[in-house]
Amino acid sequence: MSTPPLVTVIGGGMAGCEAAWQLAKRSVHVRLYEMRPVKSTPVHKTDALAEMVCSNSLRSDGLDNAVGVLHEEMRRLDSLFLSSADHNRVPAGKALAVDRHRFAREITERLEALDEVEIVRQELTEIPAGPCIIATGPLTSETLSRQIRELTGSEHLYFYDAISPIVLADTIDTEKTFAASRYDKGGADYINCPFTREEFERFYTALMGADTLELPDFERKLFFEGCLPIEEIGRRGAETLLYGPMKPVGLTDPRSGERPHAVAQLRQDDIAAEHYSLVGFQTRLKWGPQEEVLRLIPGLENAEFVRFGTVHRNTYINAPRVLSETLQTRRRGDLYFAGQIAGTEGYVESAAGGLLAGIYCGMALLDGGIRPVPRTTAIGSLAFYISHARAIDYQPTNITFGIIPALEEPVRKKQERREALAARALRDLDSWIETNGDKLGLHTGARRATG
Ligand SMILES: Cc1cc2nc3c(=O)[nH]c(=O)nc-3n(C[C@H](O)[C@H](O)[C@H](O)COP(=O)(O)OP(=O)(O)OC[C@H]3O[C@@H](n4cnc5c(N)ncnc54)[C@H](O)[C@@H]3O)c2cc1C
Repeated sequence: MSTPPLVTVIGGGMAGCEAAWQLAKRSVHVRLYEMRPVKSTPVHKTDALAEMVCSNSLRSDGLDNAVGVLHEEMRRLDSLFLSSADHNRVPAGKALAVDRHRFAREITERLEALDEVEIVRQELTEIPAGPCIIATGPLTSETLSRQIRELTGSEHLYFYDAISPIVLADTIDTEKTFAASRYDKGGADYINCPFTREEFERFYTALMGADTLELPDFERKLFFEGCLPIEEIGRRGAETLLYGPMKPVGLTDPRSGERPHAVAQLRQDDIAAEHYSLVGFQTRLKWGPQEEVLRLIPGLENAEFVRFGTVHRNTYINAPRVLSETLQTRRRGDLYFAGQIAGTEGYVESAAGGLLAGIYCGMALLDGGIRPVPRTTAIGSLAFYISHARAIDYQPTNITFGIIPALEEPVRKKQERREALAARALRDLDSWIETNGDKLGLHTGARRATG
């Protein structure tokens, strides 16, 4: 009898646990390395696998939201993460929120119960030979980070993340803003929010008075001048903002024919042009105060924020340069990255990446080739996006409708468009499962743990 294939999974977080589960269902043996509790990270508090380090929310569970579509797809792909979340759900309106301790315990116990999975509590400091999935997350240990840097090239591994707030395009008040590039260089690619002196002063006072998240010491030393939070720039004086991210030079408001006192610029953030990010507005303001301050920007009074700004420690690779759509590294076909280190953002997206890496690694070992899930699905779009996004200033991404390919027949109303995108995603995923299901282990009853 031939020996079953063995895959090393590094990291027992959201992505690593899901990858191990998907492999085990296909009778692939897994050695899962988790360094906790022998060595911890600055934010994890327990020795449980799949520990949620901050919020206990997996965000919206409705199909009118892209993350809700991703939930449903993961359910259909028999996700350990999603079923454990469903079992440990706590009331949270339309959101899927969980009892974090029970959730982590269930995942730990279900993996421990599998013969195919050996859990080794040890920091892995070298990338091993043979099939391997790296899922060590935003707080990857230093020694392994060095190895990853050698593998990918130092310019392709980042250690912090500075995210600017993202606004839903059709909630920007275009009566107050104007489209232009500085000095009219290039097309009218930016949406400019012009401030009068009084508007800027009101904004500045609110910005300086707003509550920020405390910065742990380990993060403080990670900030480089190039990615200071907007409020830190402001603390150096209003002028620093006016010569920095809010500078008005090269811009003329077509309504007044004059240069505004200050400008906040928005840049298109997705192919569908549904999302715009505020350029240079990375911030550590808490979400409530952040929303209040941002609404003082002329044109954003009624804006809907798709994502708020953050600056935090985050180890991640430049996925568009390093990975293919199948999450394999371009240099080594048997080496995969999954989870936050692969350039996704958030618990759900990280688990989704682990799910795909597990399926794809299993397919490569058992079938000799990978058949990627359709791009029209949320999970397929996420993998496609991280491997094909603009590499030059790559930042980890959440799932949004904006990264799912547009419908063949355009639908104007947002709600209806979202419903159609969700329906197409689930239909295409179902037919992919239909074709690949038995090989995937979804219908084979290969699971022996409770679920
Ligand atoms: C401070 C902070 C707050 C966050 N808050 C939220 C939030 O509220 N909501 C949200 O959706 N997302 C949040 N995130 C993002 C969140 O961490 C990720 O979305 C998610 O946990 C990432 O999943 P992962 O599997 O990639 O990594 P993790 O869940 O972090 O798992 C990685 C695992 O690898 C282990 N590990 C690291 N190096 C090694 C090694 N060399 N050998 C063996 N094991 C190793 C770690 O101990 C860890 O258990 C936050 C991140 C941070 C840093």
